[in-house]
Amino acid sequence: MAIEQARPDVFDGMALRADFPVFDRLHRSGRPLAFLDSAASAPKPRVVIEALADAYGHHYANVHRGIYELSEDATARFEAARAVVARFVGASSPREVVFVRNATEAINLVAYSWGRTNLTAGDLILSTEMEHHANLVPWQQLAAETGAALEFVAITDDGRLDLDDLRRRLGRRPKLVAVSHVSNALGTINPVAEIARMAHEAGALVVLDAAQSVPHMPVDVVELGIDFLALSGHKMLGPSGIGALWARRELLEAMPPFLTGGSMISKVTLTGTTWAEVPLKFEAGTPAIAEAAGLAAAIGYLEEIGMANVRAHERFLFERAWSALRAIDGVRVLGPSAPDEHAGVVSFVIDGIHPHDVATVFDHHGVAVRAGHHCAQPVMARYDLPATTRASFYVYNDLDDVARLTEAIHATQQLFRAA
Ligand code: PMP
Repeated sequence: MAIEQARPDVFDGMALRADFPVFDRLHRSGRPLAFLDSAASAPKPRVVIEALADAYGHHYANVHRGIYELSEDATARFEAARAVVARFVGASSPREVVFVRNATEAINLVAYSWGRTNLTAGDLILSTEMEHHANLVPWQQLAAETGAALEFVAITDDGRLDLDDLRRRLGRRPKLVAVSHVSNALGTINPVAEIARMAHEAGALVVLDAAQSVPHMPVDVVELGIDFLALSGHKMLGPSGIGALWARRELLEAMPPFLTGGSMISKVTLTGTTWAEVPLKFEAGTPAIAEAAGLAAAIGYLEEIGMANVRAHERFLFERAWSALRAIDGVRVLGPSAPDEHAGVVSFVIDGIHPHDVATVFDHHGVAVRAGHHCAQPVMARYDLPATTRASFYVYNDLDDVARLTEAIHATQQLFRAA
């Protein structure tokens, strides 16, 4: 890793690309790949790929079972990875971290386990119009099964949560507020600490969908004052198939298990079962063992750069992309304009050209972006759009990618003007 300070608040993303084997290959256009789809899933640095290979090659056995050296080694490494995740999000203990497959599973775990135990008809769940389906559909299901009501905090025309609307709805004393830290469809960074404070004053617990924030900025669960946090490893340079739920320990201890079976028990007889201590109570079956080592390696890589530097880098790229795109006729960028309220996710539409066509033309130019509803159909409905094109930045992006993005927009407009 070579981090050069091209500006005091930004490092050389281009130099980091050498750490990611996927950038070794040229795009079929003959140009380097401009990868602008990290919000969907991020490429892996060599250290993560090597950690996976090392775990599978030299330290692999099932965990929490074997009374032999290799299994004890695998278990120690798995638990060490849990401690790394705990430290990374500011948890007070590794026991507050449950390994799951992804953020979706983490949120479902809360909805099933906490939700079905604590909510009944007449209760209120509050979410927002900004959510990814992962932080929306589980609450719809929970509401349908318990008879609880589900309401959504409105979003403003410039893609921010309407805090007056939040305040009004908190007056109805919801039991739970489920909100994303960063919107994957708009790029908005929500004022989570303020939301959590307001929610707690109203007597609600707070579930934070941090799938798009933990990879990109310092996140501390204690500072934010939240109760549950969901993250996915694959969006933060780690392997797919592993994610984490963080929750305050007393909440986890009071919650019934989500999945049941092996590993999560203390004692089983034919007439009944007692549960293992947290977090194992929530980890039924064989977990993603090597992937945990890969996730710890990804966190190590990010920590070496420094999460404040990651955020500053993406803030800088966002600012440049925002002003470059706003200067192009016929391009509309969604989300807040203030760089402090906007992550490195730039969602935009080009007049008269469907986002799928935009992404197809971009691909011919070696620019990889996402086009569609971004698993946030209510956000598209809010702005009366079928879809948007989304460019998202990470550590390996640089001003060169912003230039490739604007160049691809001009080329797309030209192509459709000529057609
Ligand atoms: N929440 C947000 C804001 C997301 O962007 C995503 C992934 N696009 C998810 C949740 C779900 O993540 P996963 O598919 O890894 O469960």
